[in-house]
Amino acid sequence: MVYPTIGILGAGQLGRMLALAGYPLGLRFRFLDPALDAPAGHLAEHIHAGYEDTATLERFSAGLDAVTYEFENVSVAAAHFLSERLPVYPPPAALEAAQDRLVEKTFFRNLGVATAPFAIVDSQADLEAAILQIGLPAMLKTRRLGYDGKGQIILRESADAATAWAALGDAPLILEGFVPFERELSILAARSRNGEIACFPLIENHHRDGILRLSLAPAPDITPALQSAAEHIALRALAALDYVGVLAIELFQVMSNEFQVTTGPNSSDLSLVTRHSSLVVNEMAPRVHNSGHWTIEGAETSQFEQHLRAVLGLPLGATAARGFSAMVNLIGALPDPAVVLAISGAHLHLYGKQPRAGRKLGHITLRAEHEDLLRARLEQLQRMIQ
Ligand code: AMP
Repeated sequence: MVYPTIGILGAGQLGRMLALAGYPLGLRFRFLDPALDAPAGHLAEHIHAGYEDTATLERFSAGLDAVTYEFENVSVAAAHFLSERLPVYPPPAALEAAQDRLVEKTFFRNLGVATAPFAIVDSQADLEAAILQIGLPAMLKTRRLGYDGKGQIILRESADAATAWAALGDAPLILEGFVPFERELSILAARSRNGEIACFPLIENHHRDGILRLSLAPAPDITPALQSAAEHIALRALAALDYVGVLAIELFQVMSNEFQVTTGPNSSDLSLVTRHSSLVVNEMAPRVHNSGHWTIEGAETSQFEQHLRAVLGLPLGATAARGFSAMVNLIGALPDPAVVLAISGAHLHLYGKQPRAGRKLGHITLRAEHEDLLRARLEQLQRMIQ
């Protein structure tokens, strides 16, 4: 097929940016998303329907060359249904591993990769036992459907347990030890249908209220050893899942002597990877990721193009950074485009969404040839849009 058509489950901003990256390659897109005014629906054919109905999935998949998704809460059953008819990447097994924090943490632990200590919580008695086992502070989280800090509560003292249980106890939960991290990082890796693998430079991420606000790339002060430790973690996850597409892994960087690494029962040899590094996995996303938006202007190949190349079995692109980038999320309110674009090196991306508190409406990537210049431009931007 000269001009393949890719079906994308979900038509949010990630889908929109996938389409924008695919058009220069001659790709065509069809989206499935129940939302009427979804960001990607402004660009391509959009079927307004849910993901569960098999007749809809048949209609959606007719004539497509491959299917991918732009968020991880598509039902695994729908992904399996589609994968019996046409190539679906990343594989449904990756969705399954990423949808449930308990399955996800167990997956990494079995790979010999460090995670926060964790325990399953299905009752108030489980919560008391988990607090005794893990200690405080700790994070109580819903196992499923948590994102951007939703569905999670920090427990600082035993008295917090009852209120946290009252707030979240209706859903299956996990208690995680609080990781005393130095900073948050992410690694984005891609694996193509033909097995080729490429990793982007580590990214430093800053959150407020559980929502990503700022990413710096490449992350400042990264040693080759740290980059390679992160890549090892990614390679293991990609291989274990027979993964195709871009995979994002969120990491905590810790002082290694301050954090007791949790590794799996079969991991005596594998744990070498993490024992000497200071990386602890928080979670993964089987898709392109907000912390990778800087790659559109800041890397040789964007994460969106890379994902499409991987899904189509095309050669992967170079992942080297072009200078230094900072990505600032636009949350809740839109800036004046003229103000943003007056800053040298600023690239504005608006997703076409109506402003609402806490909503990701767009992002700005600043790029510069030197780190000092980037810092100066970032300060200028932050003064202007605050
Ligand atoms: P998550 O939804 O798991 O990505 O969590 C959102 C944010 O909460 C993370 O980016 C961290 O800033 C913080 N967080 C989550 N889990 C932990 C943990 N176990 N220890 C410390 N901070 C955490």
